[in-house]
This record gives sequence, C-alpha cells and structure tokens, in this order.
Amino acid sequence: MKIHWIGTGTPTPTPQRFGTCYVVEVCGRFLMFDCGPAATFKMVRAGLFPTQIHRLFLTHHHFDHIADLPCFLLTRWDQCADRCEPLKIFGPAPAREIVEKLIGAQGAFLCDWNARLNDPGSKSVFENRGGVLPRKPPAADVEEIDSGWVWREGGLSVSAIRTVHAEPWLITLAYRLDTPDGSLGLIGDAEPTAAVCDFMRGVDCLITHCWGFQDEMDANGEDDGQTGTIDAAQMGSDTGAGTLVLSHCGGELASVEGRAQAIAQIQKHFAGEIIFAEEGGTLLLGEDKNGGQPA
Ligand SMILES: [Zn+2]
Repeated sequence: MKIHWIGTGTPTPTPQRFGTCYVVEVCGRFLMFDCGPAATFKMVRAGLFPTQIHRLFLTHHHFDHIADLPCFLLTRWDQCADRCEPLKIFGPAPAREIVEKLIGAQGAFLCDWNARLNDPGSKSVFENRGGVLPRKPPAADVEEIDSGWVWREGGLSVSAIRTVHAEPWLITLAYRLDTPDGSLGLIGDAEPTAAVCDFMRGVDCLITHCWGFQDEMDANGEDDGQTGTIDAAQMGSDTGAGTLVLSHCGGELASVEGRAQAIAQIQKHFAGEIIFAEEGGTLLLGEDKNGGQPA
C-alpha cells in the first residue's frame, strides 16, 4: 500500500502545503480521500493522473477538503473522453447536492461543458483523445453515507464513522481502510472520541489531523472539534497504531523546532513511529515503512 500525500495543509495557504487530499494506492486501485485546494494539480505533479482515480471519499465539506472538486471532476471527465470507469463519490450529506450544483445540468460549470459538447474544435479534441461522439455531459455517482457504512471491493474494505468536528453545521466522517497490505485509519478534522478510537483499534497506521500544541489549543479555545499534540498521541496509543501520521497541522507545527517539540510531547504518550505528512511525499505500508519522514 502506498499513500500519496497530495494535500497536508489547512485552510491557510503556505508555500509548502494547502488543504487536504490523500491518494491510497492499493490492490491496483487508487482511492482518493478529500479534494482540497489544488488537489488535481498537486496530484499530477506527484506523478498521478485524475483518470486513475475511480473512488473518492469525502470526510466533510469544509473548503480545505473539497475546494478542488469542480477542477478534479471536470478534468477527469475531459481527460477520460468517456473511456474511464465511472467515478463513484462517497461522502456525508449534502455531497450529492454539492456535486450537482457544480457539474449538473443547472450547475455552475454548465457553460463550460456545454461548449465542449458542441464546439467543433472541442469535439475534435475529444475524438482525438479516443472519444466517440456524441459526447456525454459530466457525471458522478454520489452516495451519501454515514456511520456504519461499509464498502467492499476486490479484497478492500472501507468503513466510516462520524467524528465530532463542526456539528450541527457539518457532518464529518473518518474512514478505516482494511486491505491485504494492512489497515489504515484516516481521521480528518475531529476531536478525539472513544467511539472513533474503538473504530480505529489495531490499525497499522493512523493518519490524524493535528492542529497545534495541546496546551495552547486548550488555552485559546481551538481545542473544540480539533486534535492537538497530546490528543493525537493518546489516540495513537489507545488505538494501538504502529505508525502515527500527523497532517493538517497549523503553522506552529510547520517549523523544524516546532515539530521537534511536538514529537517530544507525543513520545511521552505514544511509543510507535511518528511521521509528519509532507506534501508530494509518500508512505509505504506492508512492504517498506521508510517512505515518509520518520521522527
Ligand atoms: Zn474541517
């Protein structure tokens, strides 16, 4: 299993990271989790291509997790030329409405794809890519999911559980992926709960949002709905994860000094491997565990 760190940032853009997106390559499949800002471009820069993705799982609808949806969906549609396996999207409500409002018949990008369907030059490009006219409008099969949902395909199992993040305004999900190459927990934005720890118990690798230093978050009111250093360490310990990956980190965890301090805090509570997810990097599980940046 190979995890591509496409987006490992927050809503604040920095030269190193912006928004959230991971692509998990396993059993010959490419599973995409979240579609944060510039995910499509960053994916291509990392050596992947949107047409390779056939399943997209969304944690929640904050813009740092879905802002690149129109770009990804339209690019995949355009480059596939009707020759790809249809894209299936899983996510909490109102995922279907969001996708419809972007690429649907009355969606924001109607003028784009309607022109591509009808413009003679665009039709030629489509045919030269291997497409057969008449061209079909963009489409995505969206399934709205919630706690208890499980999807199985080709030896893979993906399951979902609600997390505590921004209720009642947003439903937020975490995912667990069980594969022949090992198991992976993906917690987007959330504060730790016993239910999520139970759900993730025994995973080989736990990827979690880690906003900042716990004591500062507790003092400045940013701990509600979010995970800090000690929360992350405790979740790693409680779940028994072998590797703890910290992502979606705030600015204070971006510096070398900040990370060293964070690791020192976390190591007091968690004995496994600690990694900061770096955009453009990868992590291998099940074959080689040196793909990231071990602490
Ligand atoms: Zn969020």
